[in-house]
Amino acid sequence: MNNRVHNFSAGPSALPTEVLQEMQESLLSYRGCGMSVMEMSHRGDLFMEIIEEARTRIKRLYNLSSEYEVLFVQGGASLQFAMIPMNFIGEGEKADYIETGTWSTKAIAEARIQNKGVRIAATSKAIDFTGIPTALDLSPDAPFVHVTTNNTIRGTQWHTLPETGNVPLIADMSSDILSRPMDTSRFGMIYAGAQKNMGPAGTAVVILKKEMLKKIPATLPTMLSYRTYVEKESMFNTPATFPIYAISLVTKWLEETMGGLIAMETINHRKADQLYGCIDEDDFYAGTAVRESRSLMNVTFRIRDHALEPIFIERALKAGLAGLKGHKSVGGLRASIYNAVSEGSVGALCDFMDDFRREHR
Ligand SMILES: *Cc1c(COP(=O)(O)O)cnc(C)c1O
Repeated sequence: MNNRVHNFSAGPSALPTEVLQEMQESLLSYRGCGMSVMEMSHRGDLFMEIIEEARTRIKRLYNLSSEYEVLFVQGGASLQFAMIPMNFIGEGEKADYIETGTWSTKAIAEARIQNKGVRIAATSKAIDFTGIPTALDLSPDAPFVHVTTNNTIRGTQWHTLPETGNVPLIADMSSDILSRPMDTSRFGMIYAGAQKNMGPAGTAVVILKKEMLKKIPATLPTMLSYRTYVEKESMFNTPATFPIYAISLVTKWLEETMGGLIAMETINHRKADQLYGCIDEDDFYAGTAVRESRSLMNVTFRIRDHALEPIFIERALKAGLAGLKGHKSVGGLRASIYNAVSEGSVGALCDFMDDFRREHR
């Protein structure tokens, strides 16, 4: 393990070392069955147990009531952008979308492509998406309110979710799913691409309130209707078996090693506090997000002298710190400190940042 780097990639991103080791140990022969999880029938008993474990652990971690189904859908979070309006915005309805950055903008675009009714209930575009909007103009008649709980690129996060009355929330939680406890009863649906905080790329996890099924038109193609995934338990066709296996191990790690979401949130707070503390120490570095909206998952910052940033990235990599380049659309620096990024890794980054500041002040 001594050649592993401290991995701050935004996604795909770090997985817990214990999970990788367990996958390695079981790679040639899963539980002595003589083959890997990748090679076995998705309808056999061994895989049925794996997918059931992944579902059950997600339900338990979030304390989900029996009102909710956990589904596995391929196509990433981006396919969810298209499926949501298809399934849940009816004739003459307008859904409320809150625009907070690249990903929510893409979600809105997918609804508009289909000529679905969309309202922008709030936007932080005027401040270049550096914060979360405070003034919301929500309609009580909307079929749902769509929110991106964590904005991976700009490094902002909702710390208190919007009050939506009886209107269900639909949340893109791709980059902060399972990072903190949630009052899930307010959600009609939660979705996330697995590759940020849950596993490898290849599947999205969808948590769907059964009530939402009533809205789904009968005319949708089979694979684009959530009803199919509920009725066939995500097995209408071959699901992403290996990513689902990885999710079962990551959620086991969350429950058994980390101690659940309350404990995980405490650790995530400590990591973020340490890193923002290092950024805020003086004006050599500067955080790019409005303070109250700072993300606990994606810490975005700049060096006052922007010309030093490529040197920072190169030196960091030499010191074993990878993935610190900001998203290409905004530049700067970004450290993604998802669940699997340890306090030791954040400490190593802070030490490096202190040294770099001393050298280049
Ligand atoms: C990465 C990301 C997406 C896109 O995910 P894909 O699985 O690649 O489609 C969507 N939303 C958010 C918040 C993301 O961070």
